[in-house]
Amino acid sequence: MSVKDNLNKIKSELPEGVTLVAVSKTKPNEDILEAYEAGQRVFGENKVQEMVQKWEDLPKDIEWHMIGHLQRNKVKYMAEFVSLIHGVDSPRLLKEINKHAKKHDRVIPCLLQIHIAEEDTKFGLDEKELNELINSDVFKAMENIKIVGLMGMATFTKDEKQVRREFAQLKSMFDALKTKLSYISILSMGMSGDYNIAIEEGSTMVRIGSSIFGARNYL
Ligand SMILES: *Cc1c(COP(=O)(O)O)cnc(C)c1O
Repeated sequence: MSVKDNLNKIKSELPEGVTLVAVSKTKPNEDILEAYEAGQRVFGENKVQEMVQKWEDLPKDIEWHMIGHLQRNKVKYMAEFVSLIHGVDSPRLLKEINKHAKKHDRVIPCLLQIHIAEEDTKFGLDEKELNELINSDVFKAMENIKIVGLMGMATFTKDEKQVRREFAQLKSMFDALKTKLSYISILSMGMSGDYNIAIEEGSTMVRIGSSIFGARNYL
């Protein structure tokens, strides 16, 4: 199946209110343009340099999402154009984003990444760190970032129950946060292997790569 066919099939399955981020990391511009011509405008990348290059090369009405783990010293390269940063997991990173957003006279929307997986390898805040962050004076003083939601990755496992449990845990943290910050609206969870479960558990944004563009080749 072509990129266009894959994309249309996935889009036809998504309920209303669930945004599709087409994860184009490692994929060439031709593949992105094929999805673009089929109507897709939101793309996700996990390396800043690669995203900057694609932003320069491709149509300017594409919304670029940074979905990967982000180093503070890379924020400056994308502050001008990034539409949403999914993986914010420390106050220091948030401060750096705020600083560079200010230079460009922008407010950059961000998602806080929450650690839900049982495996140790995934980044993110736990519930206590999340609450400390949003209650801190430093956070309240930052005018050029806006926390619009949460993001999380489930354990990479065939155990569907475990994946469901982890997504449900993130959803309940999302609901609790909404009662404190009324503008919280995005719950980014679900990838190629688990987006159906994520949607059943309340996802509003899925990040799908290989089911659209095919397997990635890492050289
Ligand atoms: C690569 C990546 C995805 C997409 O993964 P697929 O399994 O190819 O759909 C989603 N989220 C993050 C954070 C990623 O790094």
